[in-house]
Amino acid sequence: MGKRDYYDVLGVPRQAGEDDIKKSYRQLALKYHPDRNPGDKEAEEKFKEAAEAYEVLHDTQKRQLYDAYGHEGLRGTGFSGFRGFEDIFSSFGDIFQDFFAFGGGFGGQARQRTAERPGDDLLVTLNLSFEEAVYGTQKDVDINTLVACSQCGGSGAEPGTKQTTCPACQGSGQVVQSQGFFRISTSCARCQGTGRVLVSPCKQCQGQGRVRQKKRVQVKVPAGVDSGTRLRLRGEGESGYRGGASGDLYVRIEVAPHPHIERDGDNLYTKISISFLQAILGDKVEMPTLDGEKTLNVAPGTQPGEVVRFSGERVTKLRGYGRGDLFVEVEVRIPKQVTPRQEELLKEFMELEKEKEKHKGKRWPWNRHKEHEKETMSSVQQELNPS
Ligand SMILES: [Zn+2]
Ligand SMILES: [Zn+2]
Repeated sequence: MGKRDYYDVLGVPRQAGEDDIKKSYRQLALKYHPDRNPGDKEAEEKFKEAAEAYEVLHDTQKRQLYDAYGHEGLRGTGFSGFRGFEDIFSSFGDIFQDFFAFGGGFGGQARQRTAERPGDDLLVTLNLSFEEAVYGTQKDVDINTLVACSQCGGSGAEPGTKQTTCPACQGSGQVVQSQGFFRISTSCARCQGTGRVLVSPCKQCQGQGRVRQKKRVQVKVPAGVDSGTRLRLRGEGESGYRGGASGDLYVRIEVAPHPHIERDGDNLYTKISISFLQAILGDKVEMPTLDGEKTLNVAPGTQPGEVVRFSGERVTKLRGYGRGDLFVEVEVRIPKQVTPRQEELLKEFMELEKEKEKHKGKRWPWNRHKEHEKETMSSVQQELNPS
C-alpha cells in the first residue's frame, strides 16, 4: 500500500505554518488516540499515520526533503515511520503531556519523571585583541549564573532530610480530571510533576538545589579564532535544578581591529608606502607585522599596487593545519612639491629617459641592420686578405 501524502494526512495546505501543523496533528491525535479507541485497528493506523506525518512536517530539514523528493527523499535520513506507540510517545512526549492521562496502557511508562531538570545554556561575549585572536590566549570570564547550592550539594533537601512521595498526586506527578469520556491530566502543582516533595527544603536554595552567584570561568581560546567564533564549554552553563545536569557555556568571540593589519580568515593584509625613488631603486623598508616592525626588501622596479606575499606568516588556521599568509601591498608616493634643485635633477632624469626611449625605438632599424651587415662583411674580407 502506497503512503499517503503527509499534508493530506494532516489536512493542511503545503504552505502551512508550524502552528497549523501542530494544531492539526493534536486534533487527529486526540481523535485517534488509543485511549479513546481501545482495540480499534483502523484508529491505531490513523494515529500512527498522523504521528509519522507530523514527525516529518514539523522538522524543517525533513520537511524540505519531503517537499523536494516526496517519501523517497526521507530514505537517507534513516526515518521509516514508527514501529509502535512507544516510539510515538517517546518522540512526542511533550505534545501529549498536557492532553492525555497516561494512567495505564499506552506509553504510560515511556517517560521517566525525575525531580532534577537540566540547567540552561549561557552565552557570553568575549572581547579579544587582534593578537590574542591570532595567537590564542587564556581568559577569565565572569558570569552571573546558577551554581550548585553548597549547603545541600544540589539536591535541594535540607541536609539530613529526604524526599518523600507527593501527597497531592500520590507520586504520579499528574492530577487527572475527567472531562467528557476521556481524561485530561495536568502536571501536579504541588510537586511540579516530579511526584516527590522535599520533607524539608534546603534553606539556602529554597529547595532549588542551586543559587545565583558570580562565577569565574577560565576560557582557553585556541589560536586562529575570529569575530563570530563560538566556543562551547561543556557543563559551564547554569547548574541543573535539584542536581540536574549543568547547561553549557557558549563564548562568542569579538575581535578588535588592528591599526595597520587586516585579516581575512587565515590571511593577513598590510600596506606599506614607499617613495617613487625607492620603487625605482629598491630599498629596505620597515613593515608592520604582529611581531612588530620587520624589514622588507623592496626590489628595484617595484610597481605601484604590487603585492608581496609571505607564506606561512602568523595566523594559525583554526581548522586544519598550517598557517595563513601575509600579503603586503606596496603603495608608491609621488611628491606633490619638489625643490628647484630636485626639479633640475628630475628634468635631467627626464632627458635621459627620453634618450633611452629614442634608442629603444631604434634598436633594430632596417637600414642600420643592413649597414651592420656590410660592416661585418668588410671586416671578414679584411681578415681574409691581411695586408
Ligand atoms: Zn540548597
Ligand atoms: Zn504531586
